[in-house]
Amino acid sequence: MGRLQKILIPFLGLVLAFWFYSARDTFKPEMLRGKRVIVTGASTGIGEQIAYHLARMGSHILITARTEAKLQNVVQRCLELGAASARFVSGTMEDTAFAQHVVREAQTSLGGLDMLILNHVGASYFGFFDGDVEHVRKLLEINFLSYVAMTTSALPMLKESEGSIVVVSSMAGKVGFPFTVPYSATKFALDGFFSSLRQEFTIQNINVSITLCILGFIDTERAVRAAAEVLRERPAPRDECALEILKGAALRRRELYYRYSSTRLPLLLRDCAAELLDYLVRSRYR
Ligand code: NAP
Repeated sequence: MGRLQKILIPFLGLVLAFWFYSARDTFKPEMLRGKRVIVTGASTGIGEQIAYHLARMGSHILITARTEAKLQNVVQRCLELGAASARFVSGTMEDTAFAQHVVREAQTSLGGLDMLILNHVGASYFGFFDGDVEHVRKLLEINFLSYVAMTTSALPMLKESEGSIVVVSSMAGKVGFPFTVPYSATKFALDGFFSSLRQEFTIQNINVSITLCILGFIDTERAVRAAAEVLRERPAPRDECALEILKGAALRRRELYYRYSSTRLPLLLRDCAAELLDYLVRSRYR
């Protein structure tokens, strides 16, 4: 009996703590009404869906990617859905100067910034690492350095608004994944940079939240084209994924897992059974 109590009481404590922590606050779309938001990689995929949700919630939206024609269509749709305002800047995130230019555009046209959503991702291959170091360098510039550059430029505005940074990452940025070595490296780099920056914000009392989004397989065109044939799991819907990202951001969560069952739960094995987790990751592939 004594032994049972010793186990049961801490267990109940943990359950209550988890319940209290996860039920702290609830999301309301009004939280994002009138907010000034940059969304990168918003010409298609998850970024496009994030823009549409923000539009329905009445935010001011500045989107960016390379393909102007697609961005024009997304802006048009955002205005139809009820965005307080919507505009775009087109260009490539291979160029750090462009990343900084997007932030300046928010300063000029929106007069400040409440949320920076870093979501864009450069094209890579799906297959064994081919030894192409230049490709790794280029991908780091697009997927990592431009995120750093935009954050650095946006920080004065975000400090003023006590705003939020949202970093869209992947399971492949938390655990080793085969066939996407350069991509995984860039996503791990994001975790290192932004988790360390969050620590410094806490030390310096900077009230800017950082939400790192750990996503599983999502049904965007690019991901489905690259992996649907080889992955055993079914992709999750991108519009639901986009909404979960916004909820996590508005609630200033430190990390967001979508879908929880295919990301957070397997990651619980990382410290106690790393090889089992590696095996489970490999077994996702046909
Ligand atoms: P996606 O459909 O391929 O969209 C990528 C976006 O990035 C597009 O808007 C693309 O537009 C833009 N982009 C690509 N190269 C660029 C460059 N050089 N400069 C500026 N913009 C560029 O991607 P997604 O599947 O929605 O993924 C969105 C985020 O979720 C990424 O960070 C990805 O790593 C993460 N994620 C996705 C999945 C998944 O299964 N889909 C899983 C885990 C994590 P342009 O081509 O017009 O430039």
